[in-house]
Amino acid sequence: MSHRGKEFISIAAEAEKDLRELLAIPANYRVLFLQGGATLQFAQIPMNLMAGMGKADYVVTGEWSKKAVKEAKAYGDIHVAASAEDKAFTYAPMDWNLRPDAAYVHYCSNETIGGVEYHAIPDAKNLPLVADASSHILSRPLAVEKFGLIYAGAQNNIGPAGLVVVIVRDDLIGKAAKGTPSVMDYQQQALADSMHNTPATYAMYIAGLVFKWIKTQGGLAEMERRNVAKAKLLYDLIDAGSFYRNPVARADRSRMTVPVMLADAILDEAFLKGAESRGMVQLKGHRSVGGMRASIYNAMPIEGVRALVDYMKAFEKQHG
Ligand code: PMP
Repeated sequence: MSHRGKEFISIAAEAEKDLRELLAIPANYRVLFLQGGATLQFAQIPMNLMAGMGKADYVVTGEWSKKAVKEAKAYGDIHVAASAEDKAFTYAPMDWNLRPDAAYVHYCSNETIGGVEYHAIPDAKNLPLVADASSHILSRPLAVEKFGLIYAGAQNNIGPAGLVVVIVRDDLIGKAAKGTPSVMDYQQQALADSMHNTPATYAMYIAGLVFKWIKTQGGLAEMERRNVAKAKLLYDLIDAGSFYRNPVARADRSRMTVPVMLADAILDEAFLKGAESRGMVQLKGHRSVGGMRASIYNAMPIEGVRALVDYMKAFEKQHG
């Protein structure tokens, strides 16, 4: 099936229409289906938005926002407007020290590894607000109109890897720095309906099916209701005793990615082994945080969280 054939063009158009409906994306925003993952956006954003100003502000709340800063530094003057490093990246600072002449301010609205989530949209003063929403997009309604640009790698809540969705306000495109590859120029991709070259057709098709599934389930309000219930089950157990611990400030805890520390790290291996024997895999936390991490994205049903909580209770009884 050619990506330029009417069959695929209608698949792509339908995916965009459904995503627009789910997120209530205003008409003055473009929706781009691109490749290169969220990591390429770390570079593509400064290349497209920083030209002319030469400076941008960044908020650092963990591993992914650190990576975004590192990448952006190649393109201009980067200022850290707020950082959670003083408390080992366990909270979401709301007080940002912004430069009025910065081209934009970038933050990560859910730090996947650290499990820190912004539950409110910070005040970006008058700067375009740019969010890496990779690991919580579509988990809840989102006020798109408060942002200049939102991007998300598909593999957490959207669909297969190999696709990144960029939602960008019209007035921010068309100013890419000289030398920006055409495939990375938002304007060129917007003019070509994300088909400047062959897009990730299969990933777009599956993403479109996921958007339809979310709609049939009741949309983002229903996703949020489920995700709140799932996260509550897990955090309630963690907080019920002292055997398990989550290091994140309560108000900033993620509903999607939940780090769980055991009372003694010596038990980690036994915990993982026992989990695996019950069919629960990939629970090991990132080395920068340690412990466990439960990824409870949209695709994880509450039964899956219940199974984990039951196992955690049994493990505590045995080892606590
Ligand atoms: N940002 C966040 C918040 C992520 O969780 C990830 C990885 N899932 C990335 C960026 C990088 O995404 P990718 O591997 O698609 O480049």
